[in-house]
Amino acid sequence: MMQRFAINTATFGFQYPIEQSIDAIAAAGFGGVAPWRREIEGQDVSAIAKRIRDAGLKVTGYCRSTYLPSLTREGLQANIESNRRALDDAAILGANSFVMVVGGLPKGSKDIAAARAHVAEGTAQLLEHGRSLGVRIALEPLHPVYTAERSCLTLLSEALNMCQQIEGIVSAPSLGVCLDVYHVWWDPNLKRDIARAGVEKRIFGFHVCDWLVPTADVLNDRGMMGDGVIDIPSIRAEVEKAGYQGLIEVEIFSEQNWWKRPVVEILKVCAERLTTSV
Ligand code: ZN
Repeated sequence: MMQRFAINTATFGFQYPIEQSIDAIAAAGFGGVAPWRREIEGQDVSAIAKRIRDAGLKVTGYCRSTYLPSLTREGLQANIESNRRALDDAAILGANSFVMVVGGLPKGSKDIAAARAHVAEGTAQLLEHGRSLGVRIALEPLHPVYTAERSCLTLLSEALNMCQQIEGIVSAPSLGVCLDVYHVWWDPNLKRDIARAGVEKRIFGFHVCDWLVPTADVLNDRGMMGDGVIDIPSIRAEVEKAGYQGLIEVEIFSEQNWWKRPVVEILKVCAERLTTSV
């Protein structure tokens, strides 16, 4: 019953090494896992990939890109290079996509147009590398509160426009989007843009959690599904109406609450809420 759902390992607050997370997620009956580079890089990536396969899990997404924008050309190239290596690992892991959080303003800059130009240029280069490996790239637009520090890409429509500019409209896109309810729930054009993403076959991932009121910290105070104000079932309905058949991934950054709880308990509550509140 949980096969339709995946767990992003950040949800555990990195309490476990990746091997233990894989085993716990599989034991709880989930269908997939989304690991982070901090858990993978410097390890035997093939062995981890085998462990994931042997556990019967899919890799929904590999998290996540090095931020692209830089004050210099050399800096941009170094950021692209770092992401090329991550794409290599995503290929070994058999990830459904490599998740890109594109980056905001480089330190010391006030030039958001330049940051956006670096994102477009870097993504175009990475798309070529991804294609050569058979790894799709999923741009994850973030809530505008993160524009300065994490993502100058904020709207779903903006992400889709960037996909279209870089790759065009094609029958089997290699560049798409990752929809996270935390980032997009407030968007007045959400319904329209989810439908567009579906028509363009660009929904590569779907992340769930909840927006708490009040929110103590916009980065690390995400809520468990059902505890906040996001109408997750209605967004899920739109995403599925748009043709998305992939796994639904739980991704909760919660420093003061969920990350302090045992992994078994987190998984149990996730499973309950996925059946009642998603
Ligand atoms: Zn996400």
